[in-house]
Amino acid sequence: MKGLYGQPVYKVNVDAGFTCPNRDGSLAIGGCIYCNNDSFRPSACTSTASLRDQIEKGIPYLRSRYGAKQFIVYFQPYTNTYASVHILEQLYREALDNPGVVGLAIGTRPDCIDAEKIALLETLSREHFILVEYGLQSIYDKTLAFINRGHDYACFKNALALTAGRGIHVGAHLILGFPTETRDEMLAMADELSGLPIEFLKIHQLQVVKETALADLYAKKPFATFGYHEYIEMLADFLERLSPDIVLQRLFAAAPDEILIAPVWNKTRSELLRDLDTFMEQRGSYQGKKR
Ligand code: SF4
Repeated sequence: MKGLYGQPVYKVNVDAGFTCPNRDGSLAIGGCIYCNNDSFRPSACTSTASLRDQIEKGIPYLRSRYGAKQFIVYFQPYTNTYASVHILEQLYREALDNPGVVGLAIGTRPDCIDAEKIALLETLSREHFILVEYGLQSIYDKTLAFINRGHDYACFKNALALTAGRGIHVGAHLILGFPTETRDEMLAMADELSGLPIEFLKIHQLQVVKETALADLYAKKPFATFGYHEYIEMLADFLERLSPDIVLQRLFAAAPDEILIAPVWNKTRSELLRDLDTFMEQRGSYQGKKR
C-alpha cells in the first residue's frame, strides 16, 4: 500500500447491515459451525449506526492514534455482496465518497458473487483500490461439509475465475486446525493457493468460541487445537511453502477472552509476531523458501 499510495493506508471497519445466506435460511440457518461474528467484529463497528456515521467515527480515531491520512473502508462482518447490485452500488459509492478513502475491502462468500456484481467492482476498481476477500477456510470438501460452509472448493475457484484479471484485488481467508485435516493436508493448502490468482491471504488458527455449533461439538467430544509453539512452527512451515508473491494480511485470530474457549494462549498480537519472527530467523526460514 505504501508503494501504491506513498504512505500506509488504514482500514476503517464497518458493518453495513448485511446478513449471510448460511444464516438467514437461504442456504442454512445455523451458519458455519465456528461462526460467531462477535469474535471478529470490533465493538465500534455496529450496523445500528449508518455507514457514513461509522466511517466518520472511525477515521478520526485512526488519524489521532496513527496519524493516518488514507483509508480503506472494510466491509467486514457477514457477507458483504449479499444484496442486489443496486444496493451494493449505493453502499460502496457512499463509502468511497469520503475524503481520504482510497478504496474498499469487501469480505464475502464465493457463492455470493456473480458477473453483474463483478462488473460493478471492476468499474469501481478503475478509480479505487478494490479488494474482494473470499472466505475459503479450507480447500478440502470434507472440511467444508464438516463446517457447514454451504459451498465447495469448486465454487471458490469459480469465483476466482470470475474476479481475476479485471483490476479487482483478490484475497482469501483460510483457517488452520480443523480436526478433519492432517498437518500435511493443511500444509498442502499453501502449495495449492500459491498456484491461484490470489494476492492477499489471511490465515488463522481454528478458535472454538462460545455460542457456536463448534463449541457444542467441542464440549461433547474435545478435539486437539493448536498449542502456541505448535502453531508458530505450523505457520513457519506453511509460509515456507507459500508463494512469496502473496501478501499476508493476518496470521492468527484473537477472539475476545470472554468468548474464547480454546486454544487459550494469553499472547498479544505483537508477542506472536515477535515469536514467529524469532523462530523463523533461528531456522533460516522465509516465505517461499521451499517453492
Ligand atoms: S459465511 Fe461467514 S457470516 Fe456466514 S455463517 Fe459462515 S462465517 Fe458466518
